[in-house]
Amino acid sequence: MASMPDAAAHLPFYYGSIARSEAEEYLKLAGMSDGLFLLRQCLRSLGGYVLSMVCNLQFYHYAIERQMNGTYAIAGGKAHCGPEELCEFYSKDADGLCCTLRKPCNRPSGVEPQPGVFDNMRDNMVREYVRQTWKLEGDALEQAIISQAPQVEKLIATTAHERMPWYHGNITRDEAERRLYSGAQPDGKFLLRERKENGAYALSLVYGKTVYHYRIDQDKSGKYSIPEGTKFDTLWQLVEYLKLKPDGLIFYLRETCSNPNMPGELMSPSPIPGLGLSPSGGSLSSTNPSFLYPVQPLLLWQTGQSRLLPMDTSVYESPYSDPEELKDKKLFLKRDHLMIDEMELGAGNFGCVKKGVYKMRKKQIDVAIKVLKSNNEKTVKDEMMKEAQIMHQLDNPYIVRMIGVCEAESLMLVMEMASGGPLNKFLASKKDVHITGSNIVELMHQVSMGMKYLEEKNFVHRDLAARNVLLVNQHYAKISDFGLSKALGADDSYYKARTAGKWPLKWYAPECILYHKFSSKSDVWSYGVTMWEAFSYGQKPYKKMKGPEVISFIEQGKRMDCPTDCPAEMYALMQQCWTYKWEERPGFSSVENIIRSYYYSIATKTENGPGTADNSKATLP
Ligand code: ADP
Ligand code: MG
Repeated sequence: MASMPDAAAHLPFYYGSIARSEAEEYLKLAGMSDGLFLLRQCLRSLGGYVLSMVCNLQFYHYAIERQMNGTYAIAGGKAHCGPEELCEFYSKDADGLCCTLRKPCNRPSGVEPQPGVFDNMRDNMVREYVRQTWKLEGDALEQAIISQAPQVEKLIATTAHERMPWYHGNITRDEAERRLYSGAQPDGKFLLRERKENGAYALSLVYGKTVYHYRIDQDKSGKYSIPEGTKFDTLWQLVEYLKLKPDGLIFYLRETCSNPNMPGELMSPSPIPGLGLSPSGGSLSSTNPSFLYPVQPLLLWQTGQSRLLPMDTSVYESPYSDPEELKDKKLFLKRDHLMIDEMELGAGNFGCVKKGVYKMRKKQIDVAIKVLKSNNEKTVKDEMMKEAQIMHQLDNPYIVRMIGVCEAESLMLVMEMASGGPLNKFLASKKDVHITGSNIVELMHQVSMGMKYLEEKNFVHRDLAARNVLLVNQHYAKISDFGLSKALGADDSYYKARTAGKWPLKWYAPECILYHKFSSKSDVWSYGVTMWEAFSYGQKPYKKMKGPEVISFIEQGKRMDCPTDCPAEMYALMQQCWTYKWEERPGFSSVENIIRSYYYSIATKTENGPGTADNSKATLP
């Protein structure tokens, strides 16, 4: 669930994570005919494959890389949407390969694709890491996993070696030899250590009762390799690979020399079941959650940038998630617990939004306070109370929470603070420093999660727009402004407005305008417009058109163009959101799924990719 499904899992000629030599064995067994081929997982790069084939009794191995946009290609070849399509293409046209693919070398019966180093355990590892690092349970845990799986996977991947029994930390070369020579000295006994001088690493390996030391180099992009060897994203993958193949070492890695200083629970014979390609190959079960010892939230990235995950902020969970604080939870707050700053965060028809601090039992929290204009009319007051009643029922990391209301010098709605301000303004102001496409996908995925929650709770927002998506920071968005929102009755699928009000027509689906019918499906239409705004870096939708012009534009079957540099997949999703008939429009549960898949597919690749790196200048104050 947290990780991506293997795009080749269903292919009968896919062997999963096997070594080159094994692939050659299978091809030999199947007869070595010209064009005989199989597919296996690439051990070096996450998400890549290798095409192994035969021509003129020789073996050929072609790496298939997953590209930034989620397509697959052999270096120098055409891109294809999946490994299956790629194989189909090369069965018709050799296009540079030794020959065309003619006969799939299917797995013998009883042979299943070999799980990869990461596959087996990734989901459980992510879950345990999130649970233990941020102390989350229940929905908060699930939401964190769904929204942050790629980031957490990367964190784990870059630090996982520290939890491996073969990792001995910062010990000297002499100490490494002492440890390797103590006890039995089988060929392939090894350990990995950090080298004091420069934070680099070394591999120490026994062969013929002698210890050999290899330097581990790190290239400019951060990839690890032994000199002249294959490059890997992580040390963990490097070690797993060298267990299969010496790759220039005098012998392959075989026996772990366990670090005597590892915490007790890690000292079981196989500290992380399912890791590696041992024949036993057990998988990590959720009944064994203690495999990770508690860790500090690790904010430093491989690239040296620091980045706050939503779970690191104070607004990920409700301030009332603490049972102590929950005791005091009431709709109406005491005025003397509220300090109001003069600083204005924003303004609207109702009045203005001010910064403030709210004193709770154990802590003080930053809040945003929507203050009603002093000429308190009853209807305006009622409206704000309605907004408060709606927000009171919502609790999700991707929705601005209400702390309560306060009736004093005027009626005030007290909310958690999203200091980054509205998404459209943020993106427009950061045009020159360039916020990456994957950053926008990440934020829009969070919005879809918040909207999916609303849909499940049977609420319609009715004012979803980039101006009402507020940022906590550059990587954390929350939906706000429930001024027009409605709770649907248990049996209703839509809300019928009696009269048209001051409506944001450019964000409204046809059925809203024509029949005053509002549902989660009409929120999906608005979500599409919000996506368009985000990928246009905060531009106004439908240029200079007036509301009524937009309506006839839509009626003619026209839709806004794809924003510059917006990925085709994301524009395709916008177009789905703009399906004319609401019955045929996807709901938020599918929208969230679609954007999640796309987000995962780019998030595992992009962070170090050219032109896509996060721009460290583009951070919020
Ligand atoms: P309106 O109904 O007038 O659109 P909003 O609820 O959208 O009112 O708030 C208006 C502005 O106030 C927002 O655009 C934003 O700048 C600021 N604001 C509102 N809520 C918050 C919040 N929770 N944290 C920070 N700023 C906020
Ligand atoms: Mg607003």
